[in-house]
Amino acid sequence: MTSTLETAGAPAWSVDTMKAAVVTEFGAPLEISELPLPAPGHREALVKLETSGVCHTDLHAAQGDWPVKPQPPFVPGHEGYGTVVALGPGVDDLEVGDKVGNAWLWSACGRCEYCRTGWETLCEKQQNGGYTVNGSFGTYMLVNVDYAVRIPDGADPVEVAPILCAGVTVYKGLKETETRPGQWVAISGIGGLGHVAVQYARAMGMRVLAVDIDDAKLALATRLGAEIALNARTTDVAAEAHRATGGMHGVLVTAVHPQAFGQAIGLARRGGTIVFNGLPAGEFPASIFDIVLNRLTIRGSIVGTRQDMVEALDFYARGLIKPMVTTAKLEDINDIFHRMERGQIDGRMVIDYR
Ligand code: NAD
Ligand code: ZN
Ligand code: ZN
Repeated sequence: MTSTLETAGAPAWSVDTMKAAVVTEFGAPLEISELPLPAPGHREALVKLETSGVCHTDLHAAQGDWPVKPQPPFVPGHEGYGTVVALGPGVDDLEVGDKVGNAWLWSACGRCEYCRTGWETLCEKQQNGGYTVNGSFGTYMLVNVDYAVRIPDGADPVEVAPILCAGVTVYKGLKETETRPGQWVAISGIGGLGHVAVQYARAMGMRVLAVDIDDAKLALATRLGAEIALNARTTDVAAEAHRATGGMHGVLVTAVHPQAFGQAIGLARRGGTIVFNGLPAGEFPASIFDIVLNRLTIRGSIVGTRQDMVEALDFYARGLIKPMVTTAKLEDINDIFHRMERGQIDGRMVIDYR
């Protein structure tokens, strides 16, 4: 059967299936499948994808790493970029042909205390792209028009994709460290998130110390403007950070090993703020005495609001952020995950559907 979606002013557009990478079971390889094309509901749009970044969160999702799990079968992906091809009912603020992205914050209720007070990222009724709603690891996806990301003119389809999660997450996370221009911030974990975090921190006027366990990633951080780069496998990073700078005013952890989280606390100077973006399953030990006596603030930070997204994209559009990207095909997804698990990806892998 062929479904036909017609939109005012646009030619009738007809196709009945799409190709997607589907998680059928946690920990199993994703299956490349033909799925029925979804029809956009009220205030939704159907988007033909051009690119999608691959975030480590997609790997956590596919492995069922977190206490709150998605429900297989599902399609991961929340750094998708493409073109609106059909509109559901009630849409007067988006047109066929517009360039949009999906995001982790696929929708929120818009009415609860969190939504009303600028904390829509904490909405208990939120839907998440590639987790509770099918995402961008497919040739088409649905977006919620109220939360879909409007992509600035002139954006490169491949480079802009990582901004939609990695970019907005670290931009918000850096703001949450409350580090001011001229002060020191440590970025722990120089992967997809961390390598753009170094660039945002520099653009925001901060001095950057990078921490990773891989020398190639530290070399990338240095090229991107980190003044100090420390290997946590071979260096006592806390001691070295304090010796060289007096300690960090802010610390942003984007690493995927719990060990980095306890270690991050030791990087901070007295009064410092440590923000956790990374989400490995697990726990870490922390000294209550050090936290109290040093008046440390430790907080989590989850993606960013729509306004944070506008700001994060604006840094990109002004040429201040240039994600380091390698393209691949949808069929490569299991290989990408395999390399991601081993820390073998420099920057971000982006699926190119074109
Ligand atoms: P990635 O795989 O691209 O990068 C992870 C990096 O961590 C790698 O460079 C790796 O070498 C480094 N690393 C591993 N162990 C380390 C250690 N002990 N010390 C320092 N560095 C170490 O992953 P990514 O896509 O950048 O995502 C990172 C994490 O952030 C994931 O857990 C992901 O789920 C999470 N995330 C959170 C949010 C949020 O809103 N809070 C948003 C996106 C991603
Ligand atoms: Zn993500
Ligand atoms: Zn809400």
